[in-house]
Order: sequence, then structure tokens, then C-alpha cells
Amino acid sequence: MSYQSPISPGRSWYEDTVGPRPEYSGLDGDLTCDVVIIGGGFTGLSAAVHLAKAGSNVVLIEAYRFGDGASGRNGGQLGTGQRAWAEELEAEYGLSRAKALFDLAEEAKAHLMEFAAVNRIEIDYMPGQMSVAHKKRYVDDYKAHAEIMASRFGYPHISFMDARETAERLGSTAYFGGTRDIGTGHIHPLKLVIGTAKVAAEAGAQLFEQTLATGITSVGGKVKVTTPNGTITAEKCLVGVNAYGGALEPVSAAHIMPIGSFIGATVPLGADTKVLPGGEAVDDSRFVVRYFRKSRDGRLLFGGREIYAVNDPRDIHIHIRRQIAELYPDLRDVEITHGWGGYVGITVPRKPFVREVMPNVISVGGYSGHGVMLSNFFGKLYAETVSGNRDRLKLIEDLKIPPFPGGRRWRTPLLFLALNWFALRDRI
Ligand SMILES: Cc1cc2nc3c(=O)[nH]c(=O)nc-3n(C[C@H](O)[C@H](O)[C@H](O)COP(=O)(O)OP(=O)(O)OC[C@H]3O[C@@H](n4cnc5c(N)ncnc54)[C@H](O)[C@@H]3O)c2cc1C
Repeated sequence: MSYQSPISPGRSWYEDTVGPRPEYSGLDGDLTCDVVIIGGGFTGLSAAVHLAKAGSNVVLIEAYRFGDGASGRNGGQLGTGQRAWAEELEAEYGLSRAKALFDLAEEAKAHLMEFAAVNRIEIDYMPGQMSVAHKKRYVDDYKAHAEIMASRFGYPHISFMDARETAERLGSTAYFGGTRDIGTGHIHPLKLVIGTAKVAAEAGAQLFEQTLATGITSVGGKVKVTTPNGTITAEKCLVGVNAYGGALEPVSAAHIMPIGSFIGATVPLGADTKVLPGGEAVDDSRFVVRYFRKSRDGRLLFGGREIYAVNDPRDIHIHIRRQIAELYPDLRDVEITHGWGGYVGITVPRKPFVREVMPNVISVGGYSGHGVMLSNFFGKLYAETVSGNRDRLKLIEDLKIPPFPGGRRWRTPLLFLALNWFALRDRI
């Protein structure tokens, strides 16, 4: 029986294909260091690498195993730019700020690829990403987007696809058109998590799994993080718990809301399948977005988000098979070998959350479903901040992120109602 994350539902296909992974012991005793990091996902592990390489004495604690949160269980799509389209950011902030945000995200993409290559981490990269319209009325937006990316943002890799090309490239007639981006791709995320942890340990970071932070205080220039078996005293602290922090840090909890997202993996579809012959990843225009891609061994990994609670992982199989059959009727009886999920940390405006939540304690998260490349880079930007250059992290810190309405008691039911409304709107 393979490993099952205690905090995220279902057994992931990534766990079964990641290969041998080292275990890191739990903290036992008190430690003093320069920087303590809470959370062993991409944000925390990447910060640990860059801090340790810059000479900081770093301690990272993870409540369970590295990647048990979103980082080891996601759709693996890198995407391009920020979550919002660059032209939407331009309308909100003007061209120069939108361009700076876009360029930062492009640097994040290049950083991820270079980091994996330099450190010889096999991340199963496959090129290509398509975004497709599930309503005819959205097609013109996709066409304009491809043109704007080339003409105003200097990104020539996106081309428009009409309905015929879309059907050919997807192997499905369910969509009306879209774009194809050959400047990005998709990866096996857990391989990147495990590889990043190894690089961090080799660089001298002290890494602990099975170590739950139970409290954070910042008094007199020192930060203390308590755990059941020891206290860590540090100059600075990074809170990288994203959607999984619960009540650990109330400011982050008020701004980052966890919502479940679920993925099913089919058996390998075989060489003669008409599904995604070019190997690109796909996301669609639904508010409750569907995202899918083929793995290196030819499985369809299909993600959707329309269930909010999972009592039994077999519910994920049933639900995902139904969504697959809507796009690929021939696969209505396909065997689903794995069904799993995780929690996406979203913010009200769907932009990342970076804030100094108490003196010397910075919280980073809320990537709103677009964190694979950003979280890996924001760890580096946090390390830059510790070295005295906060300019680039500040680009994100300056985005206005309001708290969720309704407080801790009402925000989940309110979001539940809102998501149901958007799911309904996707269908009409
Ligand atoms: C199903 C799914 C599909 C997704 N698909 C995509 C995609 O295709 N593309 C994309 O860009 N993004 C995607 N995302 C989002 C992406 O995975 C995240 O944005 C990213 O992984 C966030 O990384 P993180 O390190 O900030 O958080 P996480 O990886 O969630 O890590 C947080 C860690 O903090 C730990 N923690 C929490 N509390 C404590 C505590 N008190 N003490 C110690 N440790 C603690 C948790 O155990 C967890 O391991 C998806 C997410 C999900 C769930």
C-alpha cells in the first residue's frame, strides 16, 4: 500500500510514481537559527534552498511529509504569467505594472526549469498548454488574448485555435476554440518537491517532517515557533502553510481560503488514442475550471472542482469519470486507477498573498490555483528579502488583498453558495 497524505484526500498517482524518497525525522529539542520556515511545500522548500545557499542558518518544519499539501498533488501545469490574464492586470494597474507582474511570472517559469536542470531533478516536463472556451461567446476573447500577448507583452508563444484546430488537438469537439501556448508545459510536481528538499538539505538547511508548528510569537526582535517536542528561536520566520494552516496564523487564515480540487488518473490510454495527440495540458474557461493532461505513460490526469467534501475517495472516481465522458464519450467506462485531491489556497481577487503578519514574520501563499511556478519563485524572492532586497517581493506585497467576508464562521458557507452559483452559471 503506498503512502497516503493524512491531510489531503485520496491516494495520488504521483506518490506511486515518485520513486524512493528520503524520510526526514521530526524535531526533538530546541533550536536557534537565522530563519525558521513553516511548511514543506514549494514555497517553504524553495525558500530553504535559496536561504541556505546564501549562507543563512535555516530550519524548516513540515507537519506531515513534504508535498502532502498542494505541492505534491496538483495538476502540474506551469501556465504563463499571473493567474489573471495580463490584459486584465493592465486594465486594473496600467501597462507598466502589469508588464512587471507578467515579467516576474516569466522569470518564475525560467527559474523552475533552470533549477530542475541544474540540480538534475527529473520533473517529467512535457511542453505545451492549451486554454479552451466552453462557450462560443468567449472565443473572441481568446483570439484577442493571443494578439495582445505578442504585441503588448512581448510573448510570441501563444497562438489562437479555431474550433476545428481545437477539436483536432484535444481529440474532443466539446470546445469552441482557444489558445495554444508553446512557451510553457506541465510537470510531475511531487518529483520537484522531493528534489527540492534534497537540494535544500545538501545546501545545509535543517529539514524536519512530522513536526507541527503549534504557535508563533514575535517579541523583542526574536521569533519563537513552538512544536510539540521543541521550540525554534529565530531572527525571521516564513509562514508557507497556504491553504493548510488552519488557525496557526490568523491574518493568513482570514485572507487565504482552502477549496478542494480533485484529480482522477485513468489507465494508460494506449498509443492509438485520439486524446491530446500533441501531449499538451489543457484548462478551460469554466469558473469551476476543468484541467487535464496526459502523463508520460499515457494516462489521462483529469481535474475538476465541483465537489466540496469527500467522504470516500471512490466519489472522486465517479465524479471525474462523469466529467471525462462529457468531453470524451468513448472513455465513459474508462478505468480510473487513482482519485485524489488537495486544497487550493485562494484569495478574494485570486492574486497571491504576501504580508508581514507580525514583526519579522512574512506569510506567503494564496496563489489561487496558479502556484506551481510562482510558489517556487516566491521562495527565492523571500530569500532575497532576507538578504536585504525586498523590491521584487514588494511587487506582490503591494497588491491589495482584502480578507474574505463573513469571518471564520461564515466564509465557508458563503463561498460554498458562491461556487455553486458559478458552477450553475458555467452550465447555462
Ligand atoms: C488538486 C490541485 C491542483 C492544482 N493544480 C495546479 C496547477 O495545475 N497549476 C498550478 O500552478 N497550481 C495548481 N495548484 C496550486 C498549487 O499546487 C499551489 O499553489 C502550490 O503548491 C502552493 O505551494 P505552497 O508551498 O505554498 O503550499 P502547500 O504545498 O500546500 O504546502 C503547505 C504545507 O504547510 C504544511 N503546514 C500547514 N500547517 C502547518 C503547521 N502548523 N506546521 C507545519 N507545517 C504546516 C502543510 O502540511 C503543507 O505541506 C493546484 C492545487 C491543488 C490542490
